[in-house]
Amino acid sequence: MRRSDWKSVLDAAGSAALRHLTSLPDRPVMPPADHVAVRAALDHPPSAAGLDPTTVVEELVRDLGPYVAAQAGGRYFGFAVGGLHPASFGAEVLVSAWDQNAPMFAATPGVAVAEELAARWLVDLLGLPPASSLGFVTGGQMATFTCLAAARHEVLREAGWDVEADGLSGAPAVNVVIKAGGHATVLRALRFLGFGERSVITVDCDEQDNVRPDALAEALRSIEGPTIVTVECGNLNTGGFDDFTAVADLADRHRAAGNPTWVHVDGAVMLLAAAAPAMRAKVAGLDRLDSWSTDAHKMLNVAYDCGIAICRNAAAHRAAMSVQAAYLEQDTGARDPLDWGPEFSRRARGVGVYATLRSLGRDGVAELIDRTTGLARRFADRLRDSGRAEIVNDVVSNQVLVRWLNPGGDNGALADRVMAGVRAEGSAFFSGTTFHGERLMRISVSDWATDEDDVDRAVRALLRHAG
Ligand SMILES: *Cc1c(COP(=O)(O)O)cnc(C)c1O
Repeated sequence: MRRSDWKSVLDAAGSAALRHLTSLPDRPVMPPADHVAVRAALDHPPSAAGLDPTTVVEELVRDLGPYVAAQAGGRYFGFAVGGLHPASFGAEVLVSAWDQNAPMFAATPGVAVAEELAARWLVDLLGLPPASSLGFVTGGQMATFTCLAAARHEVLREAGWDVEADGLSGAPAVNVVIKAGGHATVLRALRFLGFGERSVITVDCDEQDNVRPDALAEALRSIEGPTIVTVECGNLNTGGFDDFTAVADLADRHRAAGNPTWVHVDGAVMLLAAAAPAMRAKVAGLDRLDSWSTDAHKMLNVAYDCGIAICRNAAAHRAAMSVQAAYLEQDTGARDPLDWGPEFSRRARGVGVYATLRSLGRDGVAELIDRTTGLARRFADRLRDSGRAEIVNDVVSNQVLVRWLNPGGDNGALADRVMAGVRAEGSAFFSGTTFHGERLMRISVSDWATDEDDVDRAVRALLRHAG
């Protein structure tokens, strides 16, 4: 390894990165995905002598580049994939160059403080209780895990049990109440925390997959003792918001009856709506709940990966996550990232949030929500007006559920055919879902780069493949 390699490595990576980013509006959204071909292109096992770094980067560009999806382009509407804000990208380049390991202030003071500030700005922007704690984790999955670990700590502590010291065996039973139609990561987090998937109580939702307050009331009436409830700010299918005021009232009543109670909100895609004045009515009561998970890599358009765990009760959050070791340098008076998430060594991922919030500004964050919601409505209007499709959900945020109308009868088969056709041609990318037993197409508008023209081009492509 020679010193001069930095320049040639950066030149090779930088020019390929620039070519990729500037090609996003025009490149095929989805590359060919033949597993055998991808394997053949990349299967170069390490030789005995190795290879000089610049050559490796050049060959990576050559071999892997053709198989990269344009997820950061304006016409990737599959799953719930955020774009790449330029400020986040710039920060990520620096974070990679600086190569900071970010568990503690004592190890990397600048990163620790940038994360501390980004955390404060976010809590403020979202209108959450000012003393809330925040941890940067890998994604919504780990954010929910982190918040539910804090919940587990607190409801058991109130019941006189120290779960970190004594574990779960012999502990008071914890009631876990989730909603039907919620995200799979909630059950997975519960599994990691020692709550069996089968032991949860599942509450019915309305036709928009928003939790029915009467059903939640009934579920809570039937249980006593420590209770964890999970609801959603932005359902994965409908983009819907639960009635947080009703949920908070029910939680208060359950707590007042002597049951330690914690309500967690999965806001992976849409917690950011709390920063948009136009969404104020939909998120009313959100700040009365106990913890909130979200993804900076979705609606905020920060680079992958970056999830966020926020807890009203900072002491519970810290008790569930913190770790002490004699060789570390802790308790310096500054915030140590390792107190607020399950990782130890980790990437300085909060720096991308710091940069993106500064670049967007408060108005820019609100505008991102307004614009993606507006573009989702544009999709819904155009598709409905075509007469070829129906819109199944109330389009209240960035999410649209589409029923393709097949004159031949099988709507689900037509949905799959339309999605596959558009994918193969590379004009856009959509993914499907099964919603209340029916195969549908899902649209998720989560990228700052998407504009009206992208939506109209994607609609034309869809209609072409609908025949
Ligand atoms: C994406 C998503 C998750 C999971 O987040 P990851 O960042 O993929 O771990 C959880 N809940 C909802 C509603 C989501 O959309």
